[in-house]
Amino acid sequence: MRKTHGRRRGAETAESVAVNPVFARPGEATELPRFVLPDDESLPETAYQIVHDEAMLDGNARLNLATFVGTWMDEEADKLYLRAADKNMIDKDEYPQTAAIEARCWAMLARLWNAPDPDATIGTSTIGSSEACMLGGLALKRRWQHARRVAGKSTEKPNLVMSSAVQVCWEKFCNYWDVEPRYVPITEEHRTLDGHGLAGYVDENTIGVVAIMGVTYTGMYEPVAEIARALDDVERRTGLDVPIHVDGASGAMIAPFCQPDVAWDFRLDRVASINTSGHKYGLVYPGLGWVVWRDRDALPDDLVFEVSYLGGTMPTFALNFSRPGAQVLLQYYMFLRLGFAGYRRVQRTSLDVAQYLAGEIDRIGAFELWNHGTDIPVFAWRLRPGHTENWSLYDLSERLRTRGWLVPAYPMPDDLTDVTVQRIVVRNGLSRDLATSLVADIETEVRWLDALPASMPTEHRHPGFHH
Ligand SMILES: *Cc1c(COP(=O)(O)O)cnc(C)c1O
Repeated sequence: MRKTHGRRRGAETAESVAVNPVFARPGEATELPRFVLPDDESLPETAYQIVHDEAMLDGNARLNLATFVGTWMDEEADKLYLRAADKNMIDKDEYPQTAAIEARCWAMLARLWNAPDPDATIGTSTIGSSEACMLGGLALKRRWQHARRVAGKSTEKPNLVMSSAVQVCWEKFCNYWDVEPRYVPITEEHRTLDGHGLAGYVDENTIGVVAIMGVTYTGMYEPVAEIARALDDVERRTGLDVPIHVDGASGAMIAPFCQPDVAWDFRLDRVASINTSGHKYGLVYPGLGWVVWRDRDALPDDLVFEVSYLGGTMPTFALNFSRPGAQVLLQYYMFLRLGFAGYRRVQRTSLDVAQYLAGEIDRIGAFELWNHGTDIPVFAWRLRPGHTENWSLYDLSERLRTRGWLVPAYPMPDDLTDVTVQRIVVRNGLSRDLATSLVADIETEVRWLDALPASMPTEHRHPGFHH
């Protein structure tokens, strides 16, 4: 796990922030302390300019091919966002319309994910998939506890089974809620959790299995139907009925539109709950996730709280109390604006660009594709064995960074930690045009690296990926 505490001043050595003399008014301070609350007020224009200028130093989002998270919405969305900035999701009584729209959105998702009885489903918005996964995991744990207590058995040692390539939020879930994580290592032969050997990890203390639609490391779908089949076998042999939570952070907003024949969702009886990130391929700004349960039985009542709503009460299940409501309205805007056909067109375009890029990178000769960007619009590659000893994908990543592109290189998880890959995430906004410039830059940098007479120094090599 990545540790950032104690590093606050790592890159920040100066104790104060200088105010550009063009903006400083007579009598105003020309420097403001960096880590101490300033003694006095500043004019709003001055404070705005300081924050604006500092934030400008962040990377250019268009060239950031590392993140899955949305960085662009249209003008109407921007307008809506500004006007809705004050809405608090928890004040259902004060903002009943926002609450009603939230329910419409997850109801739409329940149908999109083929819930057999959409009216029986229950769902909620969250801050992102991380919170949605926590809620999904908590429901699995509580269901298991209830069943164990009814059977007069111990609830001491719950475990959760998942791939070694899970997103870090599942490590957090297990850490924060005292659940033993059981990681099934991925290998060259089994590049995702695919049901192979799964029975060896499952026992009476297993609260569920996580299946990932769109593994963060590579973008590959885990075959949820095969995982379900392996668990059906377990049930036949042992009587253990183990539910699946699908982490569809990205894929749950791609598969329904682009791979409608892949059964990964509520079409599979074993799938109890599904999450997605509204701010990934839901195409909304950061700060939105969704989780939907197959039916009320999948979400134990004792996890649900009531808040007041239009003179009565309304159920809520969330980690936060207050949180912004604007993103929920933005999601509803996108659903109305694009509809099914619009989402399919946008996602199809991203997939086309991903597959074009994968094809071009494959052609360069120095690389071997790990996958081809045919699941979600994400793919990874490694250096072709024997191509060179002089440079690594970390060096290529550094070289591309000097041209503004963020294309991270990182080691794969257990049992493949000796494999280094590089990954591109194609989001709406990475046009074919931009992709063509990227390919040209990669070709140029590979030529430069290949022409080196000796090895690149290795001390700056570090993973540029936060999974
Ligand atoms: C991004 C991601 C998450 C975390 O989602 P946030 O919305 O960033 O909190 C969880 N699981 C997977 C598979 C992801 O790709």
